[in-house]
Amino acid sequence: MTQVLVVEDDPHLVRALVINMEARRYGVDAAPDGATALRLAAARHPDVVMLDLGLPDMDGVDVIRALRGWTRVPILVLSARQASYEKVEALDAGADDYITKPFSMDELLARLRAAVRRAEGSPLAPETTLVETDDFTVDLLAKKVVRGGRDVRLTPTEWHLLEILVTSPGRLVTQKDLLREVWGASQSTKTNYLRVYMAQLRRKLETDPSHPRYLITESGMGYRFEG
Ligand code: CA
Repeated sequence: MTQVLVVEDDPHLVRALVINMEARRYGVDAAPDGATALRLAAARHPDVVMLDLGLPDMDGVDVIRALRGWTRVPILVLSARQASYEKVEALDAGADDYITKPFSMDELLARLRAAVRRAEGSPLAPETTLVETDDFTVDLLAKKVVRGGRDVRLTPTEWHLLEILVTSPGRLVTQKDLLREVWGASQSTKTNYLRVYMAQLRRKLETDPSHPRYLITESGMGYRFEG
């Protein structure tokens, strides 16, 4: 089944998209904002991403840039922005197609089919799921980290944290979001968990764990991955 990730903050449009796509046997996940979109993209490896540019937490173009740090998944932009420079910006950032709202559902579905066909037909399309730094490589699909030619053994919790951070390169991920995502809503104040696990990750990945180059602490706020 072709899996589509819809990133859109308008619940009515999401509902219409979900109904129409599920009726045509697509599997659909929906994300109401950019941060959720990046997490779902990493967790679910969709075949196509449909992306609104005007999101509540970040600009859709930044979502495209973050995705393109590690995946070639086809990205179809749905946007009310009509100016040509805005289309150029989205396409230059790595979007594959751009549909201006309002659009007809038939046209959207045709473009979705075309995006899937192109991705399947291209011999160069095997999904890139590698995040590479000077010191280590993260393979998001194989869930593997290699450093200095050797596999790094991570616990499931360490992996989950690392995955969230590396799929939002350059962005602050708040302590609250990390705790909620990895340990669940009831643990969202246990920042000491985070400190412990981040220290473990740094010991495994950083050359100088006390002066991290990749897994950066934003004091009192959260963490950020610098690729
Ligand atoms: Ca919007």
